[in-house]
Amino acid sequence: MNKNIAIDARNVGKIYGTGSGAVTALGDVSIAIEQGEFFTLLGPSGCGKTTLLRCIAGFETPTSGTIHLSGRDITYTPPNQRPVNTVFQSYALFPHLSVADNVGFGLKMQGKPAAEVKAAVERVLALVKLEDFAKRLPQQLSGGQQQRVALARALAPEPEVLLLDEPLSALDLKLRKEMQSELKRLQTETGITFIFVTHDQEEALTMSNRIGVMSAGALLQVGTPHDIYDRPVNRFVADFIGETNFLEGRVEDGQVRLGTGDLLAVPLEDQAGGVTLAIRPEQVSIGPVGAAIPAKIVDATYLGTDTHYTLALSDGSQLVARVQSNSASRFGVGDEVGVTIDDYAVQVLKS
Ligand code: ATP
Repeated sequence: MNKNIAIDARNVGKIYGTGSGAVTALGDVSIAIEQGEFFTLLGPSGCGKTTLLRCIAGFETPTSGTIHLSGRDITYTPPNQRPVNTVFQSYALFPHLSVADNVGFGLKMQGKPAAEVKAAVERVLALVKLEDFAKRLPQQLSGGQQQRVALARALAPEPEVLLLDEPLSALDLKLRKEMQSELKRLQTETGITFIFVTHDQEEALTMSNRIGVMSAGALLQVGTPHDIYDRPVNRFVADFIGETNFLEGRVEDGQVRLGTGDLLAVPLEDQAGGVTLAIRPEQVSIGPVGAAIPAKIVDATYLGTDTHYTLALSDGSQLVARVQSNSASRFGVGDEVGVTIDDYAVQVLKS
């Protein structure tokens, strides 16, 4: 057992209910989360993220498999005996208690001496930059401040692992961005292992050391944001993380021939026959008709810094290109253009 592993889930399965009403929330998930990392479980609604988090917290017991924390088997350990805390989307603060009392509540319940509780409350309120708000009631705080109180409360007992179940989804976009960097800072400063659940791929890419992409109760890929974005293992991951164009082609003489007849020198391993190319919109450039692949602009969407162009190729397939809005060349719907694809950056997936 590697002592640098905080959470080691081995072949974890979870079935809710029995008989014909049974739901398999987790198939056979194995994952090792390192101590001190910001790890994100990412996937669409219903893929099993919360179930895995609840098994780590102890609110659910896996139907099969085991969960170890720093080498100890905690599969059947009650939640309050695990050095693990959870922050939920709903802050779940006590409305009649002050910020300080909310934050110190758990420690007080554990029977910690008043001086120790006070010191811990001061320490974590400083950490979330709410020292001056200790006496306020939750309703006298903004949504972002309430979420910081919930974070402070979860951090107060110094858990080894902090679980965060979509903690930012109730906040508006600007506040969410602020809280993203706040969470990242807190994680770096405390060195606590954070396991963060979200269905927001941008949030996952910006905050995480590593991401685990889930779908239908299975873990499809685990890697750094770069790994996941640049080298998705399959079409689901490529599609879920960022925008992706998919073009069908056939491997021919070490290159891929598109439906249009054009050849692309994409990086091939041992693929043969039919393949799917995953092409990011920023890997597509538009220029005048000529040596490049001929296309016609069928849609142009101005997005401020960038413009998205939808291009129809001669075989009827479509590609989206993302081009800087201030670039010299501007195109309009109906324009005949030439499309170039950065071959080297294209991912080749099995068809
Ligand atoms: P979301 O992002 O919507 O919260 P999720 O990825 O966290 O989704 P889970 O909440 O883990 O997904 O749910 C996984 C599957 O298990 C879903 O099909 C869900 O309906 C089912 N499920 C979750 N909890 C229960 C339960 N207590 N009883 C029965 N089925 C459940």
